[in-house]
Amino acid sequence: MKTFRHGTHPPANKITEDRQLVDFEVPEILYFALSQHIGAPAKPVVAAGDTVKEGQLIAESGGFVSAPVYSSVSGTVKGIVSLPTATGGKCDHIVVENDFKYEKTGLTPLENPSKEEIVARVKEAGIVGMGGATFPTHVKLSPSKPVDTLIINAAECEPYITCDYRLLVECTDEVVKGVLLLMKALGVDKAYIGVESNKPLAIKALAEACPESVEVVKLKTKYPQGAEKQLIYAVTHRKVPAGGLPMDVGCVVDNVHTAYSTARAVLLGEPLYMRAMTVSGGGVEHIGNYRVRTGTTYSFVYEKTRGSVPEEETGKVISGGPMMGFSQADLRACCTKGTSSLLFLTRKQFNMMEPTQCINCGRCIRNCPMFLLPRDLERAVIAKDFEKAAALGVANCMECGVCSYVCPAKRPLVQAFRLAKKTIRERGIK
Ligand code: SF4
Ligand code: SF4
Repeated sequence: MKTFRHGTHPPANKITEDRQLVDFEVPEILYFALSQHIGAPAKPVVAAGDTVKEGQLIAESGGFVSAPVYSSVSGTVKGIVSLPTATGGKCDHIVVENDFKYEKTGLTPLENPSKEEIVARVKEAGIVGMGGATFPTHVKLSPSKPVDTLIINAAECEPYITCDYRLLVECTDEVVKGVLLLMKALGVDKAYIGVESNKPLAIKALAEACPESVEVVKLKTKYPQGAEKQLIYAVTHRKVPAGGLPMDVGCVVDNVHTAYSTARAVLLGEPLYMRAMTVSGGGVEHIGNYRVRTGTTYSFVYEKTRGSVPEEETGKVISGGPMMGFSQADLRACCTKGTSSLLFLTRKQFNMMEPTQCINCGRCIRNCPMFLLPRDLERAVIAKDFEKAAALGVANCMECGVCSYVCPAKRPLVQAFRLAKKTIRERGIK
């Protein structure tokens, strides 16, 4: 089986893998973040008092690297408020009161679209990287260097998360149609879909549905198998240079949900305002895979899934996976295009150990998939020597969390590297 060097094997905990995708309940009030993507925030095109339909544009792109936002319900715009985001910041949200009529609008479905029409539709529909990165997909589809290979990331290597797996099994045809559209948009003849070996049903379904030009690649189950550079290496043996992009080695990587949403946007004219999401962990009774409308608050998701589990059981809420996701201090944050999962973990399901002194065991170094020296990097950060951290290559850290996970002293390594990267950016250190 194909893979990359280093990495680790956290318990998979895919306890929702057999739960079919079902529609999630919809709240009375929804909050649509204007920053649901990397890049410039979207600009509102509606005002308080306007009525909107499901699938109606409510905020247009704020630039080339940006994406528009669509309402996921019909109702009335109540205004704009600033709310916390899942990543710890704040941004403006358009507030829509749901009328529960679900009057729909959308884009015109395209039949046999050209390459240019696909890229334009992906841009218009607000499609972004749905594995969590939320980079606008139309930008990826317009590479400034020649590419010959599309790789679809269906590894889903983060513990607990199973929504991509359900899409692969339940919506195989739409996923494959999306892959073919993305290939056409890029003008490439070859695509690979990388799936971890712990998803045999998905591998079988894809193998039956894919044409010859799309190869299903069985990947070793190992974290972070779905990281862009590690996936490219596993599938093609090409190495993305430090500080480089996949297109530097002729590749574009897109998430499986992005392919699925592309198919729906092009063939059905459906903009992106709903996504598959896993809700899991011992803090909620109704774990599962849900089709969730963007704008739904985390508190609403909790309220509807907690069931009979006492509130005090939940010790930590994570948006995303336990390795790369973000702990939530405030459940007013809302589901966006990038929300792949919400985990409500009990105290037994995460490590409560206080950090102790580094014991120089070298595990962090042996496991780092980017071949960095996490131990030395942390020491540089503690000494506030950000020049040294930069020289040790902290910019190449992809914050995968492997080092923190394997560290027996439970050093807060990733947190230190996030701080270092932010400080280096702010101070303009080379
Ligand atoms: S978080 Fe950064 S330093 Fe730690 S293992 Fe991942 S890439 Fe390496
Ligand atoms: S894994 Fe932890 S204890 Fe071991 S060398 Fe790295 S930082 Fe130190």
